Amino acid sequence: MNDKDKTESIFTMDQTTNVAIVGGGISGCAIAYFLRKAGVDVTVFDQGDIGAEASSAAAGILSPLGSLSGPGPFADLLLESCSLFADLIPELETAGGISVEYTRSGTLYIARSPHSIHNLRKRMQEWQPHNQEMYWFDGNQARDYEPALALDVMAAVYAPREGQLKAPKLTRAYARAATALGATLRDHTEIAGVQRQASARQRARPSRASTSSSRRARGRHAAARGSISRCPSSRSAARF
Ligand SMILES: Cc1cc2nc3c(=O)[nH]c(=O)nc-3n(C[C@H](O)[C@H](O)[C@H](O)COP(=O)(O)OP(=O)(O)OC[C@H]3O[C@@H](n4cnc5c(N)ncnc54)[C@H](O)[C@@H]3O)c2cc1C
Repeated sequence: MNDKDKTESIFTMDQTTNVAIVGGGISGCAIAYFLRKAGVDVTVFDQGDIGAEASSAAAGILSPLGSLSGPGPFADLLLESCSLFADLIPELETAGGISVEYTRSGTLYIARSPHSIHNLRKRMQEWQPHNQEMYWFDGNQARDYEPALALDVMAAVYAPREGQLKAPKLTRAYARAATALGATLRDHTEIAGVQRQASARQRARPSRASTSSSRRARGRHAAARGSISRCPSSRSAARF
């Protein structure tokens, strides 16, 4: 298809949405759910099955401390996000009609050598200003808590408020809850590019997302295509 054909196929379509979300993983489905809660007309597009990529592989471990070093906006975001789960899970399970098997199981960050004990102590010092509940265990205390631990575990930090859930079920819950609120989820629909109007007058008009099946989105688009995807606007199909 040449550029002229693509442009024509976009403009001849009459199906519209105010927000087009590119990617139907956990990010896209969560965005769709919260936008629908706010009353926004939204369509999620995924080139494959909804929730079939990284979101289907995740172990569902909710352990923000493991990703933290010092304080800062990233730390605030992680901790604030994780603190929302306790209220969010029952809401989503009701709205999506599915259990995500959330448990606040706690996390053991273990050390198996004097060198890693030293590093774990340093990390605990970095974590402490975040006011998260945590305890230092020696090897025996750690094994009392988790008898299946290897005998060479010499120390551990126990963070009891961290948890785990079934990540694919969480994505499904978001998808179902968003759909129940009126979101449209379109699987097997690749977004090939994003086109914006060229002139100043046109720039005030909404952008349009073109898909392989040539639907169009009038309004805004959100890229939720996963961490390894290229930005659609960098592709040759995009015009600005
Ligand atoms: C093995 C593994 C274990 C993990 N364990 C954990 C864990 O324990 N805890 C944790 O928090 N995180 C974990 N993660 C990370 C977590 O899975 C990801 O951060 C999360 O799933 C990302 O979600 P996403 O919606 O951004 O991306 P994805 O789930 O990858 O969704 C992106 C979607 O975009 C679609 N897409 C891409 N391009 C287009 C296009 N042009 N048009 C239409 N659709 C398109 C794809 O088909 C895909 O479905 C793990 C990841 C892996 C791989």
